[in-house]
Parts: sequence; structure tokens; C-alpha cells
Amino acid sequence: MAKYSAAAVQAKGKSAEDNIFAANNRATALADKIGKDKVINGTVGSILDEDGQLVMLDVIQRAYKRLTPREIVAYAPIQGYPDFLEDCIDQCFGASRPAGYIRALSTSGGTGALHHAVHNYSSPGDEVLITDWHWGAYDSVMIDAGRKVRTFSFLTEDGHFNMASFEEAVTDLVAKQYNTVIILNGIANNPTGYCMTDDEWGAVAQFCAKAVEGKDKNIILVADVAYLDYSGEKEACRTFFKKFENLPKNVLTIVAYTLSKGFTLYGQRIGAMICVTSDEDVAQEFVDINQYSSRACWSNSNSAAMKAMASICANPEEVKELDAERAKYYKLIQERAAIFMKEADEAGVKYVPYISGFFITLPMEGAKAVCDDLEKEERVFLVPLKKGIRLAVCSVSKKEITGLAAKIAKAIAKTGAKQ
Ligand code: PLP
Repeated sequence: MAKYSAAAVQAKGKSAEDNIFAANNRATALADKIGKDKVINGTVGSILDEDGQLVMLDVIQRAYKRLTPREIVAYAPIQGYPDFLEDCIDQCFGASRPAGYIRALSTSGGTGALHHAVHNYSSPGDEVLITDWHWGAYDSVMIDAGRKVRTFSFLTEDGHFNMASFEEAVTDLVAKQYNTVIILNGIANNPTGYCMTDDEWGAVAQFCAKAVEGKDKNIILVADVAYLDYSGEKEACRTFFKKFENLPKNVLTIVAYTLSKGFTLYGQRIGAMICVTSDEDVAQEFVDINQYSSRACWSNSNSAAMKAMASICANPEEVKELDAERAKYYKLIQERAAIFMKEADEAGVKYVPYISGFFITLPMEGAKAVCDDLEKEERVFLVPLKKGIRLAVCSVSKKEITGLAAKIAKAIAKTGAKQ
């Protein structure tokens, strides 16, 4: 007999079966049973140190310990504390702050920023454009809001941004919609680790301008920079932001900024949405409509997390320490990735060009069977995606990652998966 449902029409049938958390839960349960050292958990999207412990940066730990009860529990302004917002803009852009009207609002992590961008700049039924390789939560953000997911091919055969595929999709969407929202996780991409070059970002911005030139239509380009702080040298990895200046008023750039990774505050749910626009009214509207949605959604943001960040940013010595700690973990992740890629080359396992970030992806047909086999035979937990396998280099130690490519090669051969 069919199950009775009390859900409203638009909610019927939805469930958040997240294969990342599911694989992580299985890995944790097995580790509890047989010992942590016998299980390799490559599913977690957080930095774990070489002993498998979740990292909270020292400078952040100290800032939290300094907080007063009032700073921890007070209701903050809906938009966010003004010093926190200035700090987000500063930390996000560094020396590459684009010219234009820049405004920020606090959000519930990067996810909150993505939610508001989709909710307020596309309409029900619209298609929102993302890359084929993307974080699974994008689909939920769109589908939950009654939008459709439209993908274009992120990378060319030779491993560069696929401008032709992007242009084709944008042209089509602009022809049929008033607004076209595009989300680009182009820096230390989850799941591939690809980083778009400054020229690629520039070409994207210029094409957006051209696509809506002389039209009563808008493009909203959302740059999801969740892994920015682990994507390269501090200032060098931020220069692409300059490509967002001097765009026409019907191209609005929104940066989805988060403290989840850069400040290791994943569960504290704090981030910011930051706009860059050449039009002051568009900037004011950005604050007004998104603040309204915050009020209707989560109300105000986490006071403790905002105050902790503001207190670090008020002290240049602590900012230096923050940068040094991030650089240390960036280097560690790079070392882990280098071990894996070298061994993958030796074992003939293909991966999508990895530059930086928390994940490496192995393109493959039959990913699920390979992951199942690795779990069963090797106690290795990875995340099967539609078009491949995701390995979290942020959470697997150098010792654990050594030899992993060979295990994967074996599972590929055994299951007959195709790369
Ligand atoms: N964007 C991408 C691609 C991510 O992988 C994540 C986190 O995993 C986020 C954004 C934002 O996460 P949060 O909402 O925790 O800040």
C-alpha cells in the first residue's frame, strides 16, 4: 500500500539522502568497531591533521576563548556586525578588491549565500546554470526553490575551462529568461580541484556583459569561493577578483564567501554574500532584498563566530598567524595530493586536473561498484559521484594516501569500471 503523505505538493518525495554523509557514517561506524587505523575515510570535507583529528586553527581557538557571554549569545544585526562585514570583504578580496559598489551581508555559511542568490535573483521554474562537475548540494538548493538545474561542461578534453560550452548555455538561457543565475565554483573546485585562470574568469565576465548588452535582462554571476584560502599563495590566488570590476549594471557579481573552511568554522554556520556592481541602486537593492530573506529564513547570524573573526582581524599579528596556519595546511594538502597523483600516474589511474583544494576526482563509469569494492576489500571509503569518485585529500593522511592509488587501480580492474 502506498505510504500516506501529509507533505504539500512541492515537498512530496524530497529526502536529503546525502551519499557523502552516508559513506562517512559507514566509515565512522567501522572505525569505532575495528579501530581508526584500519579504516581510510576519504569522504570528509574538512581538514584532518596527520593523526586524523579535526583541525580548528589555533588562532581561532584563542579568539573563541576570549569571547564574552554577551558576544556569544547576543542577537546580532540581521545584516551582520559592521566590522565583521568589512573584515569579510577585506579577507575575501585581499589586495585585489575590485572597483565598484561592494556590500556584504552575513549568511548561514556559503550555503546561505547560494540560497539567497538563487531565491532572489531567479524565478520559480527558471534554470540556474552550474558546471557538470559540481557539489551535490547545488541541486538541492535549486530544486528546493523550484528551480531547474542546467549544466554545462566545465572542462575541455585537455583540461581547461570549457568556454564554448559556457557560451552556448548562457546564450540559450539569456534568450529565454529575464535573469540568468550562474554559479561558478571556479577556485579549488569541489570535486575536481580545478582553478580557473584569471584569463578564464575575465573571458566569463566579458561574455556575460556581451550576452545581455542592450537587453532588459540580467546575469547574476555567483563566484563560490568556499576553498579560496587553500587555493594558492594568499594574494596570487585572489587576483581574479579584479575581473569583476567595471561590468555593466545588468551583470551583478555575488561572491559566496564562507568561514567554514578558511577559519575552520564549518559547524558554526557563518559566511557572507558580497556583491560587486557598478550601480549604486543595485547594491542597495542587494542589501534590502537579501536582508529581508535572512529575516524570513534564519533571522540573524551566529554572533560568536562573527565576533571571533572580527577580533582576529582587528589584530594584524593574529592575521599573520592566521595566514601562516592556513599556509601550513595548504602545503600539507598539496603534499598529500602530490603523493596520490604520482602513484595514480604509476598505476594508470586517471584523475581530473587537480590544482588545489580539498578534493581530487577520478572520472569513471561504474564509480559506485568501485567504491563498494574498496569498502569491502580494503576498508577504504570514498564518495561515488555520477561521473566519478571523489577523494578528500583534506582528510586522508600522507601515510594513508600512500598506496591508495594501487588499491583503486585494483578495484577498477576487478569491477570492470571504465575510465
Ligand atoms: N560551496 C562548495 C563547493 C562547498 O563544497 C561548500 C561546503 O562544503 C560550500 C560552498 C559551503 O559550505 P558552508 O555552507 O558550510 O559554508
